[in-house]
Amino acid sequence: FRNALPGILSLHAYTPGMPIEELQRKLGIADVIKLASNENPLGPSPKVSAAIAEATKGNLGLYPDGSGHKLKNKIAEYHGISADRITLGNGSNDILEFLARIYAGPGRAVMFSDYAFAVYPLATLAQNAEAVVVPSHGADHPTMPFGHDLAAFTRVLKTRPDVSLVFIANPNNPTGTWNTPQEIEAFLDSVPPHVIVALDEAYFDYQDVELRSDARVWLDRYPNLLVCRTFSKVYGIAGLRAGYALSDAKVADLLNRVRQPFNNNSLALVAAEAALADQEHVKKSVELNASERIRVGAELQKLGLRVLPSQANFLTVDFGRDAAPIHKGLLERGVIVRPMGSYGMPNFLRVSMGTVREDDRFLSALREVLAEGQ
Ligand code: PMP
Repeated sequence: FRNALPGILSLHAYTPGMPIEELQRKLGIADVIKLASNENPLGPSPKVSAAIAEATKGNLGLYPDGSGHKLKNKIAEYHGISADRITLGNGSNDILEFLARIYAGPGRAVMFSDYAFAVYPLATLAQNAEAVVVPSHGADHPTMPFGHDLAAFTRVLKTRPDVSLVFIANPNNPTGTWNTPQEIEAFLDSVPPHVIVALDEAYFDYQDVELRSDARVWLDRYPNLLVCRTFSKVYGIAGLRAGYALSDAKVADLLNRVRQPFNNNSLALVAAEAALADQEHVKKSVELNASERIRVGAELQKLGLRVLPSQANFLTVDFGRDAAPIHKGLLERGVIVRPMGSYGMPNFLRVSMGTVREDDRFLSALREVLAEGQ
């Protein structure tokens, strides 16, 4: 194994949230809730299960449609752009990796913010490219602590002609913070045309309407922009793995060259199509998230905790001291949330918004843990 490339040896495997079954087994109780991976607590639209049931009646012995024709056409229609500007991924992580494979490599650099999504350094270092990590707004910023500092991105980019790819998560995971469309536009205006900017909008639908980008307008204006979306969050099919990119047709052509021939399985393709068609379910999910984000945020503040501003489907909470014992106390009470040590934020926990019942369970478990001084 010592012969592995240095970029790979410098990596740590991505740690996903603990599976529910694992904690159920450990505690010997059934009522375990998971608020650790920013999934949709309502799950997918009922139309998704119906579409999957129908698909399983077909011949699963055949390979899926390798080009995802039908789904791509539906996505194209949804966004009002042509299908040759869409690339399908096995989750949007797949897309992030395609980008790194195409644009990063030894002698090149990839730029992203401190406290940004964990897959950006993974994809970069796996290509043996250099990661240029731009300092965030910092812990004490008055309005957007830990947020992406896009003015700093512009400054750093001027000094680093070797940067070929930029990742921006908006809203960002694990912080929930965001950049306004005006800030993003100002950045895009400053980027030289040979640099590809990947705007990762995994949490797009959870944002207030006035903060949402108009991907179609930006894609026409900036041929070096790529917008990433996922079916894992508001569409509720994280378990099936489907995401996509919107880009210039020439970039989509490159992405398709490195894409594995059958990267989306047959069930993911039909499920994504059914999920996209049910915008009522999206609306319901967004409304639940919006009210829970306000309610849970207020309850956490009543406990004297600092909550980072969030436009996503989770809240990132500052305990002002090592949060590991609190994480442990919650686990002992059957509540799985995300520790933030691996992101360099050991005093924080990230909690996904659940149903009202799940969030009440989280809050009462947390009150108990804090009262016990854990
Ligand atoms: N980008 C961001 C910012 C995310 O938080 C996530 C999910 N954690 C993803 C991309 C990847 O999601 P998926 O691969 O499930 O589409």
